Amino acid sequence: MRLYNTLTRSEEDFAPGPGNSVRMYTCGLTVYARGHIGNFRTFICVDVLRRTLKYLLGYEVRQVMNFTDVDDRTIIGAQKAGMELRAYTDQYIAMFREDAKALGLEQVEETPRATDEANLQAMADLIRALDKNGHTYVSDGSIYFKISTLPAYGKLAHLDHEGMQPGARVDSDNYAKEDARDFVLWKATKPDEPTWTVVDPPGRPGWHLECSAMALRLLGESPIDIHAGGIDLIFPHHENEIAQSEGATGKLFSRFWMHVEYLIVEEKKMSKSLGNTYTIPDVVAKGFRPSAVRYLLLSAHYRKQLNFTWDSLSGAEKALQRLTDCLARLDAVTREGSHPEVTARVAAAQSAFTEAMQDDLNTAAALGAIFELVSDLNSAIDAAAIGTGDVAVINEAFDRFDRVLGVVSLRQAEDAKPPVPVVDIEQLIEDRHAARRRRDFAAADRIRQDLAERGVLLEDNASGTRWKRK
Ligand code: AMP
Ligand code: ZN
Repeated sequence: MRLYNTLTRSEEDFAPGPGNSVRMYTCGLTVYARGHIGNFRTFICVDVLRRTLKYLLGYEVRQVMNFTDVDDRTIIGAQKAGMELRAYTDQYIAMFREDAKALGLEQVEETPRATDEANLQAMADLIRALDKNGHTYVSDGSIYFKISTLPAYGKLAHLDHEGMQPGARVDSDNYAKEDARDFVLWKATKPDEPTWTVVDPPGRPGWHLECSAMALRLLGESPIDIHAGGIDLIFPHHENEIAQSEGATGKLFSRFWMHVEYLIVEEKKMSKSLGNTYTIPDVVAKGFRPSAVRYLLLSAHYRKQLNFTWDSLSGAEKALQRLTDCLARLDAVTREGSHPEVTARVAAAQSAFTEAMQDDLNTAAALGAIFELVSDLNSAIDAAAIGTGDVAVINEAFDRFDRVLGVVSLRQAEDAKPPVPVVDIEQLIEDRHAARRRRDFAAADRIRQDLAERGVLLEDNASGTRWKRK
């Protein structure tokens, strides 16, 4: 497939290094708050890349997606909450896992936390290797990376070397491109901050060091195949990851760098600091389903900004409905037989879909191919020009589309899940029977009514009471 590589600023043919396995690292969530749908735009686009590599191209994928559980923001958050750092970040990791499942993200092979013992050890090893290669110095108890010792520094962000200030240091985890300076690898111990002694002097890791150490530890020999994240990570985070990893190993760190553009709201990046974020529970509280969010976030090309509005989410809901309505109509076809023109039409849609996905993950064009097919299939159903033999072929094609996009299966899983927990429904059915036995029909009706309002219908028949989703 063709994949845009930020390192070369061009689309290139992608194939993994030796073997059939793609080794990929994604910068995961900084766990000081529940992830918002802007974060999830990046994670969903990377999930679509993962699925394309696996199901469309037949590669194996080994993916690492970390949790940044120690940095400036998590430390401040834990201090404010009066909690121990790990207990504080645990909460947001649990929420991330819940939202990731609701959005149909495939589980990746490894989800390390920076504060895991083995990762801190890997960070200490990395600092030692950088020290040995002459890339570090200590100042005021912190360890810094000296960028003048690495002539390639700036190759990802295309930095102007003139603008770099020799000897100037920056301690913050995040800063602007104009501030290309020696960056901190390991921060000196401060009162009320967690401290580790794996490194001398004791302290805590800088954000950039964490990702390099986890990628090198869990993905094996450099170079890895793909490193991914949101576009805001190009500088300084990814530039510094390259400096650390290549400074230590002397080898290329990652062959491809994939960056997802922003989800924006009224011309501004969706971000916690601007206060314009929505989480999955926020969206669900407004009556939308996670499957519609997934659909919306993957419907635009990942290298284009996507403007979030409630109207666009309603549009996604309608598009998804159109897709599932067509599948339901196909399910109702009873006439036997097959039509060669239907088979040919489906094959054409499949090639268009595959071509679009191989063209730097052009999801917008891939969805276009699916909806043209939906339109033609609806016409064919109207004209009674579809038989059950065709339906089998069509369903197989839609299954293939959905292994990559993951929206229809997500919606079906949502449909299968009752809006009220099954144990509660069963208890209420029992209560209703009890009310009837004591001839309190008003109470029995109230239970039926309440459940109906919550989206569950009860049906009485000779063998008892059954429930179904409204
Ligand atoms: P953070 O928790 O800030 O480290 O971000 C986690 C991931 O979400 C990173 O890959 C970010 O680049 C990405 N991200 C943050 N905000 C947005 C946004 N508005 N649109 C797309 N990706 C984002
Ligand atoms: Zn990272």
